[in-house]
Amino acid sequence: MSMPKLKIKTGDRVVVIAGKDKGKKGQVMRTLPRENRAIVEGINMIKKHQRPTREMMQGGIIEQPAPIALSNLQLLCRNCGEPARAGQRSLADGRKIRYCKKCDENIDR
Ligand SMILES: [Zn+2]
Repeated sequence: MSMPKLKIKTGDRVVVIAGKDKGKKGQVMRTLPRENRAIVEGINMIKKHQRPTREMMQGGIIEQPAPIALSNLQLLCRNCGEPARAGQRSLADGRKIRYCKKCDENIDR
């Protein structure tokens, strides 16, 4: 069995490591744990037809991010900006937080 990857959470900065958006960076807007996917700002954009509304009489096509597999994402450290190999450490109050093995700064606050 492989090591479980540390979870990617809402608000994390991530980089896409596989697929059509490889190399793009964005912020996680929502995670879908049951599907092992996440919705990331600006990543995996799909066009969706919008019904006409009072404000937008003609309707139209809007672009929005579709869920992307967590395995295609890597966490970015908010301190050093590098793709982080995250570790986990315990705080005095018992909380477990993630930290960046590159710069040793905490990723969770
Ligand atoms: Zn770092």
